[in-house]
Amino acid sequence: MATVHSPELLIVMAPGSTGDEADHVIARLQEAGVDARVSVGREATVIAATGERELLATLPLEGYPGVAQVLPILKPYKLVAREVSADPTVIEVDGRRLGDTWFGLIAGPCSVETREQTLATARAVAAAGATMLRGGAFKPRTSPYTFQGLGVDALELLEEAKAETGLPIVTELMDPRHVEDVLDHADVIQIGARNSQNFLLLAEVGRAHKPVLLKRGLSTSVEELLMAAEYIAKEGNERIILCERGIKTFETSTRFTLDLGAVAVLKHETHLPVIVDPSHAAGRRDLVLPLARAAVAVGADGLIVETHPRPEEALSDGPQQIPTAEFGAFAAEVRELVALMGKQLG
Ligand code: PEP
Ligand code: MN
Repeated sequence: MATVHSPELLIVMAPGSTGDEADHVIARLQEAGVDARVSVGREATVIAATGERELLATLPLEGYPGVAQVLPILKPYKLVAREVSADPTVIEVDGRRLGDTWFGLIAGPCSVETREQTLATARAVAAAGATMLRGGAFKPRTSPYTFQGLGVDALELLEEAKAETGLPIVTELMDPRHVEDVLDHADVIQIGARNSQNFLLLAEVGRAHKPVLLKRGLSTSVEELLMAAEYIAKEGNERIILCERGIKTFETSTRFTLDLGAVAVLKHETHLPVIVDPSHAAGRRDLVLPLARAAVAVGADGLIVETHPRPEEALSDGPQQIPTAEFGAFAAEVRELVALMGKQLG
């Protein structure tokens, strides 16, 4: 059986070392049949080396000019591990930024239902300063007898909303058979909680040329979430946004338990941006703002929030959607807290 090597060593170049010195290290690695992945940061350049451990051990990497340190990557996740990237990853979509000092405010309906509802929501969230528009076209519903989403028709409505507001589109992909349709219309591909460990789907979006918003599964540990992200990164797509959206616990007073501790851990473990979905975690609109405040304070890089012009008529997740009429006030408060954290809306 073929062995699949993972990055094993991190070569950290000294501050002040030159590009030629880094190139020299990379050339020596390549000559030895070792893959090199380079990350040039504000303060240092780091090179991750992938190859057989025994072979890597024979290379005199510490002796090459400009090399400060050679470290093993001990974690099971490699490409998404914090040490592998010199700086936090910033995801750029149509001039919008998310990550590092840029905070993403992604908002929109749970499901795309009608043209009027989609455009009204898009206008409201754009006016409030949201940075991207969310909306479900293919919906993962617990009951097969409830609204399943408008599919491709919804994707077209989202595209119309983008044409009018300029907001990039975030929408969920559930099935590899819909990859082409979703890629044609979406700017960011959402992988929902229920597909968080659908490894074939993860590999599929890993080969796509669009950023991926990867939600944590209902019963997925932080390490499992990072390994899921590794599946995407391994295929070449490292534009990944992680999302904490609440997990299953014994607690029933909220729909899920928002695990803000996981956000703090993720910020420590990975260079990828981490956002929070307070809507699905809470399950009720009165808790969305307090949870959003806490998410900003814990260091999240963004929020994804559900809002609907008339939540009482929504075909999915009505109780947790904020009326669009109230979204402006919500966004204004988020913006102030984001500034307190030394960040700004991207
Ligand atoms: C959604 O964002 O619409 C959604 C279904 O979320 P999750 O996958 O987190 O349940
Ligand atoms: Mn929803």
